[in-house]
Amino acid sequence: MHYISTRGASARLDFVEAMLAGLARDGGLYVPYSWPRLSPSTIAGFAGRPYAEVAVEVVKPFVGNAIAEADLARIAREAYGTFRHPAVAPLVQLDANLFVLELFHGPTLAFKDLAMQFVARLMDHVLTQRGERTTIVVATSGDTGGAAVEAFRGRAQVDVVALYPHGRISDVQRWMMTTPTDANVHCIAVEGTFDDCQALVKAMFNHHAFRDRVRLSGVNSINWGRIVAQAVYYFTAAVALGAPHRKIAFTVPTGNFGDVYAGYVASKMGLPVDRLVVATNVNDILARTFATGDYETRKVVATSSPSMDIQVSSNFERLLYETCGRDAAKVNALMGSLTQSGRFSVPSEALKEMRALFSADRADEQEVDAEIRAWMKEASYAIDPHTAVALAVAEKETRDPKVPMVVLSTAHPAKFPDAVKAACGVDPGLPDWLSDLPKKAERFTVLPADQAKIEEFVAGASRAAREGAAV
Ligand SMILES: *Cc1c(COP(=O)(O)O)cnc(C)c1O
Repeated sequence: MHYISTRGASARLDFVEAMLAGLARDGGLYVPYSWPRLSPSTIAGFAGRPYAEVAVEVVKPFVGNAIAEADLARIAREAYGTFRHPAVAPLVQLDANLFVLELFHGPTLAFKDLAMQFVARLMDHVLTQRGERTTIVVATSGDTGGAAVEAFRGRAQVDVVALYPHGRISDVQRWMMTTPTDANVHCIAVEGTFDDCQALVKAMFNHHAFRDRVRLSGVNSINWGRIVAQAVYYFTAAVALGAPHRKIAFTVPTGNFGDVYAGYVASKMGLPVDRLVVATNVNDILARTFATGDYETRKVVATSSPSMDIQVSSNFERLLYETCGRDAAKVNALMGSLTQSGRFSVPSEALKEMRALFSADRADEQEVDAEIRAWMKEASYAIDPHTAVALAVAEKETRDPKVPMVVLSTAHPAKFPDAVKAACGVDPGLPDWLSDLPKKAERFTVLPADQAKIEEFVAGASRAAREGAAV
């Protein structure tokens, strides 16, 4: 299996190379050269099997010969062994044919763990085989940084540096990054916004001498390894509800379009997906795009679901590429227009194809609060604001009552205690196994949003840079 860029001007890579590269050199995203299909009998055979085993079956066709199957199986067992629920991603029924897929039982209480725990181990494995080191730098508005720190801490070949906006993330989110004691974990509290953090990471990637010196690598949501790992739970949830003998619909709280795009990957592989509903908060670029065909960026508004407060949804480019008949020249032109004027129009044929599988809608802050309140009242079930966005949208959707609707729950309510308490009066409280988190010592360095200062810190943290200098 090999991977090509949506912009058409990068060399083909295998799975491992695509995972380590992240973004393609031509600015595009990697997609598989062709879509592997799983037969209905293979999918039916997933019923009742442990999550880690299904993960191997779903991921294997994308990995090809790049990693031995026995290694893949061991890595999957270790990755999903860190979860606090034996089913890893359990389904909870809320109403007739309405289900919540709980993706928050990992070590940092957010769905990012499902991909990050797996990808970190895959990276460490291949780097060990190659005798190479890398430095992972990640900008975070909250969940990604914690998931990356937790997944990479203590790994032999990788140093991880997380950049977060000083004073602008929740306590729980910060503790998850700053309390691990492993020597390869480094946190920078940047005096600036999340956009500053992201711009700094981008600038480091574009500073090629620095990038090579520290062997910079990334694990943001465009990383192909993360996407494939996220396709797995679409299979486990659908099979538990009767697939492949029955179609299943999903509603996904969406920011960068990575999670819902993984549902598209599952459908391309043969899972009978009835509908993928894209749920956004008031930062609704995707809801507007599916409604009008115009992809147009606007200013970001801060909401109670910060992991979905985005201006552009990077992974949308992958769907665009597919629905434009894999025409890289067309994608290049559209992306050029986005850079120049902040907008482009989805070609009408592509829009028609998208609408055949996807719907989209948004939920505003009042709807989110009402949703949190309603489920607490009706079922004593606490949901976080991201999940509430998705549930609110799923309930607005006109749906076939015979088709099960699975709403993805992407964060534990305890990760956003203030918003949950404000909406329903109940403090969700940390799970017992995390109750000592607030008492642990924190380690972080406050730095200005200055590229030279940040680079100096990253180089000091990077074993790759130190060993390179010693040679
Ligand atoms: C990252 C995140 C999302 C958005 O996922 P995308 O793949 O970026 O669309 C939704 N909810 C939570 C809690 C997240 O951390």
